[in-house]
Amino acid sequence: MLTVKGNAKINLTLDVLYKREDGFHQVEMIMQAIDLADMLRLEERPTGNISIAATIARLPCDQRNLAYRAAALIKETCQVKSGVHIFIDKKIPVAAGLAGGSTDAASVLLGLNRLWKLGLTTHELERLGSKLGSDVPFCIKGGTMLATGRGEILQPLTDIKPCFVVLAKPSVSVSTAWVYRQYQGQNVKVHPDTAGVKSSLDQGDLVGVAKGLCNVLESVTIPVHPEIRKLKQAMMQHGALASLMSGSGPTVFGLAEDQAKAEYIAQKLRSQCAADIFVTKTVGRSEGV
Ligand code: ATP
Repeated sequence: MLTVKGNAKINLTLDVLYKREDGFHQVEMIMQAIDLADMLRLEERPTGNISIAATIARLPCDQRNLAYRAAALIKETCQVKSGVHIFIDKKIPVAAGLAGGSTDAASVLLGLNRLWKLGLTTHELERLGSKLGSDVPFCIKGGTMLATGRGEILQPLTDIKPCFVVLAKPSVSVSTAWVYRQYQGQNVKVHPDTAGVKSSLDQGDLVGVAKGLCNVLESVTIPVHPEIRKLKQAMMQHGALASLMSGSGPTVFGLAEDQAKAEYIAQKLRSQCAADIFVTKTVGRSEGV
């Protein structure tokens, strides 16, 4: 039996460069692991079956679950006879722009590599992960990373200066595929200064990073869900360093230098906004999975 922690992520920047011939979008984004996490318990099953149970009813527990697909892929690739029962203690909101499914898949790959003593390198696990989803390789590595290609090509960046993160998840769910389909690059005037944010990270300049937060997918999701803009404004009004939608949304995050400020923002949002509010913190590469 093995327990693995799967961290969520936020996007400090997200730029869509162009649509590729294979249908994927070429992206450039700075991704950050955060401490909000699912816990996955993996129990070996000599029968060879893969099964899933989860703490929330709306998650599919069959091939539609990315954690199931990750187990099936690594079992098939490495010709493993054993099976596994996966129990997911789900803490990351679903379809929220926080890579909940991807991190569960990453946790299963990392966990089964250990449980089944397969000896795959991180690079090999990343390659398997990229077959399951563009965010899975990042979830395997964690920390602060520049992600390019369709999100699966990673370059480690200087870890962000540790800080607190307030998350606000409105009750709506957003389909990532739908958001990318609707994206119209020609209408987007402001793009992230990715190099500028990288240099702020190098200098340990959290205020500089905060100033550079930018996500072009807000141009699709905010018009459909205007409560996202209201949450961003509320975060700023109550003292966040900066606030942004994560991934394709709808979750909004705000950065705060210390826990007291983050708790204050969270308390204000809980009393004023119809959203689930979480206080968490950034996770550096060395503290990750
Ligand atoms: P991303 O930020 O990578 O785009 P997301 O946070 O927006 O992802 P997820 O929480 O991964 O979205 O959920 C997207 C879809 O994946 C949902 O429709 C959900 O039913 C499905 N799914 C499959 N497996 C899982 C899982 N283990 N956890 C969460 N969702 C899952």
